Amino acid sequence: MKRAEIKITGIVQGIGFRPFIYGLAEAHSIRGWVLNDEKGVLIDAESEDRDLDAFVQNIPKLAPPLARIESFDVKYLAPLGYTLFEIRKSEEAQEKFVLISPDLATCDSCFSELFSAGNFRYRYPFINCTLCGPRFTIIRDIPYDRHKTTMAPFTMCPVCRKEYEDPRDRRFHAQPNACPACGPSLRLKDREDQEVPGDPIEKTLDLLAEGKIVAIKGLGGFHLACDARSQDAVSSLRSRKVREDKPFAVMCRNLEEVKEYCAVTEEEANLLQSVERPIVLLRKKESSPVANAVAPYQETLGIMLPYSPLHHLLLNGPLKTLVMTSGNRSDEPISYDNEEALHRLSKIADYFLFHNREIHMRCDDSVTRIFEGRPYILRRSRGYVPFPIKLSFPLEMILACGGELKNTFSLTRGNYAFVSHHIGDLENLETLTSFEEGVEHFKRLFYIEPKAVAYDLHPDYLSTQYALSIPKIPMTGVQHHHAHIVSAMAENGIDGDVIGVALDGTGFGLDGTLWGGEFMMANLRDFDRLAHLKKLPMPGGSMAIKEPWRMAMVYLSEAFGEETTQLRIDLLKRIDLRKWDILKKAIEKKINSPLTSSMGRLFDAVSSLLSIRDEVRYEGQAAIELEKIADHGVKEGYPFCLREDDVPMTIDPTEITRRIVRDLIEGMPSSRIAGKFHRTVARLIIETCEVIRSKHGLSRVVLSGGVFQNILLLSLVTEGLRSSGFHVYTHHLVPTNDGGISLGQAVIAHMRLFQCV
Ligand SMILES: [Zn+2]
Ligand SMILES: [Zn+2]
Repeated sequence: MKRAEIKITGIVQGIGFRPFIYGLAEAHSIRGWVLNDEKGVLIDAESEDRDLDAFVQNIPKLAPPLARIESFDVKYLAPLGYTLFEIRKSEEAQEKFVLISPDLATCDSCFSELFSAGNFRYRYPFINCTLCGPRFTIIRDIPYDRHKTTMAPFTMCPVCRKEYEDPRDRRFHAQPNACPACGPSLRLKDREDQEVPGDPIEKTLDLLAEGKIVAIKGLGGFHLACDARSQDAVSSLRSRKVREDKPFAVMCRNLEEVKEYCAVTEEEANLLQSVERPIVLLRKKESSPVANAVAPYQETLGIMLPYSPLHHLLLNGPLKTLVMTSGNRSDEPISYDNEEALHRLSKIADYFLFHNREIHMRCDDSVTRIFEGRPYILRRSRGYVPFPIKLSFPLEMILACGGELKNTFSLTRGNYAFVSHHIGDLENLETLTSFEEGVEHFKRLFYIEPKAVAYDLHPDYLSTQYALSIPKIPMTGVQHHHAHIVSAMAENGIDGDVIGVALDGTGFGLDGTLWGGEFMMANLRDFDRLAHLKKLPMPGGSMAIKEPWRMAMVYLSEAFGEETTQLRIDLLKRIDLRKWDILKKAIEKKINSPLTSSMGRLFDAVSSLLSIRDEVRYEGQAAIELEKIADHGVKEGYPFCLREDDVPMTIDPTEITRRIVRDLIEGMPSSRIAGKFHRTVARLIIETCEVIRSKHGLSRVVLSGGVFQNILLLSLVTEGLRSSGFHVYTHHLVPTNDGGISLGQAVIAHMRLFQCV
C-alpha cells in the first residue's frame, strides 16, 4: 500500500482535468481525492504500489489535450486508509492566482453532437464542453466559475445541471455549458433593429447566398461576413468598410475547401487545425476561385477554419467559404456589444446575427504563418491569449505599455509574461479605452499589482502618456528597437550580449530622430547602437509614410542631385514636380522633415521607384507588394557602402539607388530588380553583422522588427547568417512587429529597476 500527494500546476483548471483524474483513479483502483487549489490541482491518492505508480505515470501521459503542465511534484506519505475516490470542493486560499485558458475551438465530440439529428443539442450554436468553447472572452472575474462569467444570467436546466455535476461527464464543471432549453440563443435583425422572422441560421445562409453582408457575433467580437466568391459582395463590403486594399480574412468549411484556394503544407494544415484556430497566411493558387477583392495585390490569403459551433453551422450551408473580417470601421477596435455593433456597423452590414451571451473581453482573430516549419505569429490574440509566455527567470510585477501601432501591453508575474490580446492602433479614444480596460482586467485576473511601469520613448504615443500619468510608481522609458530585440531574446530564453538587428518603419531614437534600420550590441538591460542605415529626411513627416514617392524622390536626390528631374524613369512622369519643389525647399529649411534611418522607408522608396506603389492605404503596403513581385531566383545584388569609420557605422544605400535606376532605364523587369534588392538588403545585413562580429566577438544575431514580416528577406538573412557561422534567433511566440515590444519593455524594466549590476 502506498499514498502519494501530487501537486500539479499550469493550465489544469477549467479544461476537464478533474474528471480526467477521476476516471484515471477508477481505472487504477485509486482511493483518495482531487481538488482545485490556488496553484492548480492537488491529488491525494492511495492504492497498491503497482496501481499507484501506473496512476502517477499516466497523469502527464494521458492528460487532456488542453492541459499545460508546468510542474508535477509527487510526495509519498503514510497511507490513511481512504475507502473511495472523490472530487472535493475547491479550497479557499490566500493566493488565488491560476492560469486562465484561451477560447478553444469546438472539439470533435461537440462537433459530432452538433450534426447528429438525435442529439438534444443538434444544431445548437452554443454547444461546448470542458475541452472546448469560450473562456477568456466571457470571464468577468476570477475564480473561473459560471457566476463570474457572462453565462451568469442563464440558469442551467436539469439536464445541463446533471452533466455539470457528474464527474464522469465531459461537461463536468464546463462553465459555459448550455442547451437550447436553457442557454443563449440567436436573433437575426436588419439594420433598423427589426427582427427577421424564421430560423436565424437558415435565413442568414439565404442572405449570404444573395450577396448580402451580415455582421455576425462570434467569440471575441463581430465579424463582417459575405460570400467570398462573389466579387460584388466583397467589393461592396470593401467600399463600405473604407478599407480599400487591406486583405480580408476568409473562413473555409474544412481543409479540403482551403486547398481549393491555396497550396497547404503539412505544417500549415496542422496550424489551421490547431485548437487555437488562427488565421494562417497561405500562398494563393493561380486558379483560386476566391473573389479578387478579398486580397487585392497579394500573393497570400489569410484563411481560418471554423472555431465555434455557429461557424460550423454557417459553413455547412450552400457557401463553403465566407469572408470573415473584423467587425469594425477602419482603424477602430472590433465591435463586441450588440447595441454598439448596430450603431457602428449599420452603414456596413445589411443584417445582424446577434446572440445574447455577452462578450466581456473583445479579442480579434490571431494571424500566423509558417516559417521554417514553425508558427510565426503576426498577431497574437484569440486562441493564444491569455496564455503567458514562459520566461527563463522570474520578474517583478511590471506593466509594460507597448507601442502605438498593433499595440499590446504586458504584465509580468514570476516566470510568466502575460502579453495582452491585440489592442490595435492606439490612435483614437476607442482604442485607448480598450487598452485601459484591458490593463485593469488583466491585473484583476492574474492578481498583478505592478511595482514598475515601462513605456516607449516616443512622447506622442498614447501608451506613453498613459504610463506617465500613473502616479507614484518607478518607471523607465525603453528605446523602441531595444525592446524589439529583448522581446525576441526573452521568448528564446537567451541573455548576455547579442547582435540585435531591428528593422522596421519607425521608432523613436535616443537622439530624437526616427530610427528603424538598427544594428546594436544589446543585452537585457542596455544597448549600444553600432550601425544604422544612413539618415535621410522624411518630407512632410508622416505624409512621407503614406506617400512612398516622397521617399523615392529623397533617395533619388541623394544619388543624382540636380540631375534627378532629368532621369528617364516612369516615377518622374507620374509625380507633380511643383509639389516636389516645395518639399525640397522644406527639406533644405528643415521644416517638417524629420530625419530617419528606417529600413521600412527604403523599401517604400524602392516600391515607388519600381512603379508598384506611390501611395499606401495601410501600413507596410508598399513593402508587402514589393516582396510579392520579387523574383526569388535572382542571385546577384547591388553594391552598397558600409562606412566602418563612422561611429556608429553608417550603411549608405546611395549606390543601390543608382543601380536600380540604371536597371530601370535598361528595361529590366521590376520582378528582377525587386529580387536583386531583397538580395542586397540581406547581404547588407549579413556583412554588417560580420563586421560587428570581428570588432566585438559576438556571434549570436537576434532579428526583430516589422520588416522581418517579409518572409523572402527573413529567409535570405537567416540562411546567409547561418552559413557565415552565426547563431540566429527569430520570433515564434510573439510578433516581430510592434505587437511584440511590450514583452521586451517588461524584461528591460525588470533588469534596470530590480536587478543590481
Ligand atoms: Zn467540446
Ligand atoms: Zn440545458
